[in-house]
Amino acid sequence: MGWLIPRLLAATLAVILGGLVGMAVGNAWSWPAIGALLGAAAAALAHAFVDAWRGHRFMNWLRGQMEGSAPRDTGFWGEVGYRVERSVRALERNVATESARLDQFLSAIEASPNGVLLLDASDQIEWCNSVAADHFGLDPQRDRRQRITNLVRAPAFVAYLQGDSFGETVTFAGPGARGTISVAVRPYGEGKKLVLSQDITERERNDAMRRDFVANVSHEIRTPLTVLTGFIETLGNLPLTEVERRRVLELMSQQTQRMQTLVGDLLTLAQLEGSPRPASDRWVPVQNLLAQVHADAEALSAGRHVFDFSGGEAAQIAGAETELQSAVANLVTNAVRYTPSGGRVGVSWSVRADGAGELEVHDSGIGIAREHLPRLTERFYRVDGSRSRDTGGTGLGLSIVKHVVQRHGGELEIDSEPGRGSRFRLVFPAARVRQMEQALDARRAAIESVRAEAQGAGRL
Ligand code: ADP
Repeated sequence: MGWLIPRLLAATLAVILGGLVGMAVGNAWSWPAIGALLGAAAAALAHAFVDAWRGHRFMNWLRGQMEGSAPRDTGFWGEVGYRVERSVRALERNVATESARLDQFLSAIEASPNGVLLLDASDQIEWCNSVAADHFGLDPQRDRRQRITNLVRAPAFVAYLQGDSFGETVTFAGPGARGTISVAVRPYGEGKKLVLSQDITERERNDAMRRDFVANVSHEIRTPLTVLTGFIETLGNLPLTEVERRRVLELMSQQTQRMQTLVGDLLTLAQLEGSPRPASDRWVPVQNLLAQVHADAEALSAGRHVFDFSGGEAAQIAGAETELQSAVANLVTNAVRYTPSGGRVGVSWSVRADGAGELEVHDSGIGIAREHLPRLTERFYRVDGSRSRDTGGTGLGLSIVKHVVQRHGGELEIDSEPGRGSRFRLVFPAARVRQMEQALDARRAAIESVRAEAQGAGRL
């Protein structure tokens, strides 16, 4: 209201002044009253013109982008300009804050590992993040405002979206080479929908693997259990001679041994999967590994094979001794088991040009056909099931070997040819391999630095 009284006063003053001037001028022609009237009218008109011009300036500013400040003025137009400008600027600040918040919100959704898609009441795409675009095979810009069911035609998805029970999720095969996509819809606002998508290919694969694994373990355990049950019944029901009884007990012992080996291998695998990677500063002499394995292999072979262990005298591998031992033992045991009597089994150590260490176990045994090689390290995969079982195999050996070498940063390489034998190589990265001279150098350097420190301290 600060502007109202001065504005009325200014208008009144202008009219009075105009009247007075008009009256003074009219006096000269003896028409003071007419002069006063004309003067007052002229003053009112001038006042209205000035007012209209100020209003026009302000209107021009309003019609523009309102970027600069409002025209500086006094009185009514000054106050209107100041207030309008203040609210425009406050609004702009609010819009900027809200748009920064929206940007942040959208980048957070963009960073989500899950797909997020917003549909309007007619199932047209309002917005989607790049993960959802990937899951549904969409282009986030081009497909905006397109009806989703025109673009994603998987029958399960279309039926789910057009139904009204969104409590469950739906899964369907993603477009192109994508695996399985799981989708959940949450209605919001007026008929709008929030579509959340997830790529569950890996989870499904893991579930299938877990199911297979449980089925395999059950099968592996059930077989010796069935045999044992049969023997127990035989022992209980049939009158056996002492020789027969001993034979039955021997067979029973073989079956329990088989179950024990299986459980042992399963536990080893579980431990490998559940424990942290082996330390890279525990050095295991390759000779230690080979010596133990050599003794076991000779025992298993019982003189049926010729052995050749070479190299590795000065070499060391950084890692867990028990794991490395178990990997090499598995390979050497396999070599003995799959090499007929009179065959050769060899273990050699060498260092490659890039410093990687290579521990090779080779044999002149039955070999493996090419098509089996890629699956050989899968759990329970056997080329010849009955041969593997007859020789005490669990089907888990190479799986353990692969785990061990991978945990040491290396890899397992396999070359084999049916009838000509096999070569299994454990390749360890250079960072986990050193020769004894290096070890001695490192020890000498450590001693030198301790000595230097001690001398320095003495001098102080
Ligand atoms: P298993 O306990 O059956 O030996 P592994 O995982 O150790 O299980 O080996 C998987 C399969 O690979 C074996 O069943 C066998 O068919 C084949 N295999 C492994 N080592 C050799 C080898 N040295 N010579 C021939 N076949 C082998």
